[in-house]
Amino acid sequence: MKPLDLGVMTGIGDNPRESLRKVRDIGLATAQMGTPPDNYLAGSGRAELKKIIADSGVEITTVFCGFAGEAYDDIPTVRRTVGLVPKATRSERVKKTKAIIDFAKSIAVTNVAAHIGFIPEDPSNPDYRELVNVLKEICDYAAANKQNFCLETGQESAGVLLQFIRDVDKPNLKVNFDPANMLLYGSGEPIAALNLLGKYVVGVHCKDGKRPVEKDKLGSEMPLGQGDVGIDRFVATLKKIGYKGALTIEREISGEQQKKDIIAAMKLLESLK
Ligand code: MG
Repeated sequence: MKPLDLGVMTGIGDNPRESLRKVRDIGLATAQMGTPPDNYLAGSGRAELKKIIADSGVEITTVFCGFAGEAYDDIPTVRRTVGLVPKATRSERVKKTKAIIDFAKSIAVTNVAAHIGFIPEDPSNPDYRELVNVLKEICDYAAANKQNFCLETGQESAGVLLQFIRDVDKPNLKVNFDPANMLLYGSGEPIAALNLLGKYVVGVHCKDGKRPVEKDKLGSEMPLGQGDVGIDRFVATLKKIGYKGALTIEREISGEQQKKDIIAAMKLLESLK
């Protein structure tokens, strides 16, 4: 792919051929994919999925980790269920993350990304130290495969994320920057955050949204260009920082409206890039 090629975030589901055909049919040649069902992660299923991806003509730029039991209903639910922060599920999810890293390697994808959960804001918090060590372990695992592990933005401010990246201190720890999430979680101004994290950014979600209006609620995701990110400034800033990855559209609704919004987003991004 070329820098700033357009793409879309897609689930793979139980019918990956159909999922990837939809990507291709709307005219996109790259995609970030969610974690495939377990039967595709290893063994003969993995070989089958590798062939389906190769046949699809869609270049997978990132594999996204997803874990059973995660929910995004509101901020307390995200805190309780998402990523590697919740302790009750941590060891099984670290194991799953490594399986996803190996899967991504087998389909020649360098970037594996995840929402790891809300990083504690205080570096002297013992939970913070534990999380730093978990990420060191995952980064070392990915590094042995020559891969990056990417943190999806939004659940903490860019300053907290930057400190965390410095504390993990692994060269393959990168960022998948989602500007809308900064607003949806009330974590700060997206363009300033992008400037701060710029050199770590290897993937982005082109997504838009508005800040929350009620305590503990997430803000509202909006069609690209209709929220408060400032997509023109977002794309201009990506160019300014020398970003070379894909512009991956993310629209977290389903059905016909999702398709319409993705097509409108493609037109908008083509005009801006
Ligand atoms: Mg995202």
